[in-house]
Amino acid sequence: MTADVVIAGAGPNGLMLACELSLAGVRPIVLERLNGQTKENRANGLVGQVVRALDRRGLYERLSGSAEPPRPSPAFVFGAMPLDLGRLDDNPMYGMPVPQHRIEQVLEERALELGVEIRRGHELTGLSQDEDGVDAEIAGPEGSYRLRTRQFVGADGGRSVTRKLCGIGFPGVTRDGSVSRGAHVTVPAELIDPVTGGLNVPGYGPIPPFMHHRTDHGLFVYAPFPTGTLVNVTEWNQDGGDQPMSLDELRDSVRRVLGVDLPFGPPEGPGPHQLRRLSGGNTRLAERFRDGRVLLLGDAAHVHSAIGGPGLNLGLQDALNLGWKLAAQIHGWAPPGLLDTYETERRPAAERVVMHTQAQSALIAPGPEVTALRALFTELLRDERTTKHIAEMMSGADIRYDLEGTHPLTGRPAPDLVLETATGSVRLAELTRTARPLLIDLTPDAALAGALDGRRDRVDLVTAKTSQDGLPTAVLLRPDCYVAWASDSLRPDAKEHDTLRTALASAFGPAR
Ligand SMILES: Cc1cc2nc3c(=O)[nH]c(=O)nc-3n(C[C@H](O)[C@H](O)[C@H](O)COP(=O)(O)OP(=O)(O)OC[C@H]3O[C@@H](n4cnc5c(N)ncnc54)[C@H](O)[C@@H]3O)c2cc1C
Repeated sequence: MTADVVIAGAGPNGLMLACELSLAGVRPIVLERLNGQTKENRANGLVGQVVRALDRRGLYERLSGSAEPPRPSPAFVFGAMPLDLGRLDDNPMYGMPVPQHRIEQVLEERALELGVEIRRGHELTGLSQDEDGVDAEIAGPEGSYRLRTRQFVGADGGRSVTRKLCGIGFPGVTRDGSVSRGAHVTVPAELIDPVTGGLNVPGYGPIPPFMHHRTDHGLFVYAPFPTGTLVNVTEWNQDGGDQPMSLDELRDSVRRVLGVDLPFGPPEGPGPHQLRRLSGGNTRLAERFRDGRVLLLGDAAHVHSAIGGPGLNLGLQDALNLGWKLAAQIHGWAPPGLLDTYETERRPAAERVVMHTQAQSALIAPGPEVTALRALFTELLRDERTTKHIAEMMSGADIRYDLEGTHPLTGRPAPDLVLETATGSVRLAELTRTARPLLIDLTPDAALAGALDGRRDRVDLVTAKTSQDGLPTAVLLRPDCYVAWASDSLRPDAKEHDTLRTALASAFGPAR
C-alpha cells in the first residue's frame, strides 16, 4: 500500500479534508491536475455555520486576521428579500467576505504545515478497487503511474472524474436560458450613499449593498467587497453566446434589467479581477456518496445554484464530517457502520441546500405570479419565527444528526462555551483546534472521567467550570464539534454513565 488516503482535487474541500486527516494522524496524498493555484474566483464569501466551524480550527483567525470570535450577521437575503436577523435572539447566520482563492491559499498553507503531500500537475485518469484497496491511475508531469491506497476520496468538483469512473449517477436538473454576468468595476464615488453604502443609480433610485435586487427583467447585485466592487446581473431566456465577456456586455445587461444606464469603469488595483459570464446552471445530487473504498466530497457529490452562497458551508462541513471517520477507519478503531454515517448525515444537509437554492431561484424568476409570491413571502418574513426558520435553514443550523440520546443538543453543533479551566479562561473554539474528540466535564466533582477508561488514546478530557447560564453539565464532542452526548445532571447517575459509554462506543469504538 503506497498511501492510506488519496484525495483527488486540491479545491477547498479536498484541502480541508487533507487538513482534518492530518490532524487525526493520517497523512493523505492530494492529487491536483492544475499546476498552480487557480486565479478563477468563484465564492466571494463563506455563509453560515461553516464560519464557526473554521473558528474551531483556528482558520477563521487566519482568514479574518482577527483574534476575536466571529459574530452573527445582522442582515442577510433570501431569494432577493431582506432578512432582518438583528432581531433574532439566537441568530445562527454567520458570514465572512473572503474570496475563494484566499480560502484555498490558507487551506493549502495549513495542509502543508501539517505535512500533507500535494502533487500538482497530477491528474486522476483511472480507478479500480478490490477488497483491500484502490488503484488510482494518474497522469503526472513525468508520465503515467499507479498509486495504491486504502481509501480514495474524489473532491474533484462538479464534473468529478472519480464519480464518473465509479459509475455513480448524478441525477438532477439543468436549467438553460439563464445568463449571469459579473465583473469587478469602479463606480463613481458620488453614486455611493455614505450612510448605507448603497448605490444611487441615476434615474432608478437606491439599491442597498450586497442585497440581491430583483426587477421584472432580472436580478442585479451591487457588492462592494473589501477586495473590489462586484456588479452582477442575471437574466432569463437568453443565450449568452460564446464571444469573450466584456464590460460593455455587462452595461447592456444592467440597462435591460434596471432600465437605465449605470456608469462604471474598469476595476483598479492588482486583482485578480472577475469578468465572467455563466450560462445555465445545474442542480444535481450524486446517487450515492460512497462506492466501496471510494468516497465523494463537496461539489463532486452535489451541485446547485450559488444563490445565497451555500456551497462551502456544505462542502467544508462534509470534509469535517468525513475526516475523523475516515481516520478512524484507517486507525482500525471505527465502529461498524461509522463510515456509512458520512452519507446518512451529510445527504440530508445537501438535500436541504438543493431545496432552498431551488426555492430561491423560483423566487427571483421574472413574471407577475412570482411578484405576487414575493409579496406574500415578504408578509411572512415579518414574522420573527419565519425569519428564524429561514436563517437556520440557510446557515445549516437546523441540521440534527440522528444520534442516540434525548438531550436537545445531541446531534447538533456544540454551543459556544467559555470555560474556566485550571490554566485559565478558554473558548471552546480554542480547545477544538487539534480536532480531538472531547469530553467536557463541568460537573462539580468532575465525576465523568472514569467513563473514558480504555479510550483515553482517542478522547481527551476537559474538566472545567463555566459561569454561562443554561448550559449542560457535560458534553461529549465529536471532532467535527457536533454533540454526541450531553447531560444536565450535576451528579450523573449510573444510567447517565451508561448512556455516555454507549455514545462513546458508537462514535469512537470499543474500549481497549
Ligand atoms: C459563480 C460561483 C459563485 C459561487 N459563490 C459561492 C459563494 O459565495 N459561497 C460559497 O460558499 N460557495 C460559492 N460557490 C460554490 C463553491 O465555489 C464550490 O462549492 C466549491 O468550489 C467546491 O469546492 P470543491 O473543492 O468541492 O471543488 P472545486 O473547487 O471544483 O475543486 C476541485 C478541484 O479538483 C481538481 N480536479 C478536477 N478533476 C481532477 C482530476 N481528474 N485529477 C486531479 N484533480 C482534479 C480541480 O482542478 C479543482 O482544483 C460558487 C460557485 C460558483 C460557480
